[in-house]
Amino acid sequence: MHSCSGDDDNAVQNQKITDFLSGVKHTLLVMSGKGGVGKSTVAANLAVFLSNGGRKVGLLDVDMHGPSIAGLLGLTGFPMNSVDDMIQPYIVSDNLKVVSMQGFLQRPDQAVIWRGPLKIGVIRQLLADVAWGELDYLIIDSPPGTGDEPLTVAQTIPGCQAVVVTTPQEIALADVRKSLHFCQQTDMNILGIVENMSGFVCPDCGSLHDIFKSGGGEKTARTWGVSFLGRIPLDPKVVLAGDSGCSLLSLESSAKECFGAIVNNIEAILGEKKGAGNVTMTIGIPMAGGKLCSHFGHCQEFAFVSVADGKITGVTMKTPPPHEPGVFPAWLAQQGADTVLAGGMGERAQALFQQNGVKVICGVQAGTPEEVVAAYLKGTLETGDNPCSHDDDGHHCHGG
Ligand code: ADP
Repeated sequence: MHSCSGDDDNAVQNQKITDFLSGVKHTLLVMSGKGGVGKSTVAANLAVFLSNGGRKVGLLDVDMHGPSIAGLLGLTGFPMNSVDDMIQPYIVSDNLKVVSMQGFLQRPDQAVIWRGPLKIGVIRQLLADVAWGELDYLIIDSPPGTGDEPLTVAQTIPGCQAVVVTTPQEIALADVRKSLHFCQQTDMNILGIVENMSGFVCPDCGSLHDIFKSGGGEKTARTWGVSFLGRIPLDPKVVLAGDSGCSLLSLESSAKECFGAIVNNIEAILGEKKGAGNVTMTIGIPMAGGKLCSHFGHCQEFAFVSVADGKITGVTMKTPPPHEPGVFPAWLAQQGADTVLAGGMGERAQALFQQNGVKVICGVQAGTPEEVVAAYLKGTLETGDNPCSHDDDGHHCHGG
């Protein structure tokens, strides 16, 4: 076999990247179709909230042309150093390390004028040659769109998952659909969609006004069968925090509450427990018309209710794949459901759930996901007959 030193260097770098990634539990690529929708704000605050909750987090800003993570976290002007050929990330706290292109620039306003191959090389180096250590989360802030940077991340990090940020306006949603197509084409799992600038929090009275018709992010999530992670209002405190280089943790605000809920949703979807002794659950519920649907096999969508510490932390709606026998139980298990609350369900479907390690409770009466799960958690859930338990031919309730 012919070999040259370029190939050898590449193999060494590949090995270093593989070694680093083997010590990372979850990699999240924060993407957006458009600039200015709050992608970096979401990335920076996700990193701070997760690290504040005890997770080891690395935050990597691969936006070469407009790196804003350093500014958002008050790290402007910090130089990146190397020790023993390893780049030292900036240490924000015991649990949070940050690397941004900003840290390599001679002058803060210097422009990076690079073509694709150079950018690809730098991103690979930032995965191979940074002293990140072991991480629970590597969060990557990419520039908007579907260019070299997200493509390099998608191709270099198997198992990377996308958090797609949008605003409610159709023009932003149109570009988000491009990001979602990008994920499909690069085989990157979409962890979910965040709708930012969703309604306006009045600085005088604190009340929320739905100035742009919000809900488009959630609707897009439903259409694509991906999780809706939550919404963040347009809140002047977000700008105040970002401009003064601090996270939203330090400012009481509606946006802070919303970030907390989004982080809980992410942790619940990823099956991360919040701390020793705290139990998290994901409960799947077949739905029709906003309520539990008594015919499992006929439901149009499923609610996934995340529970932590005995409390509901989020509800996500997802559209299942087209119904065929055996599809729903496997799909629900794949989506992380550990419990399913249903009305009627055929015996075959119940057996399939059991095989997939999912607990099923049948005969549950119609109600909103919140009502049903709250009753289940309190131990007051009433279950009647399972209308499908003897229906082995699946004529009415072909649930599997
Ligand atoms: P992007 O990374 O998508 O280009 P940024 O995160 O840099 O966007 O945000 C652009 C600007 O919008 C920043 O000044 C930021 O403080 C502000 N911003 C982001 N989210 C919100 C929000 N929910 N409310 C108010 N301002 C916001």
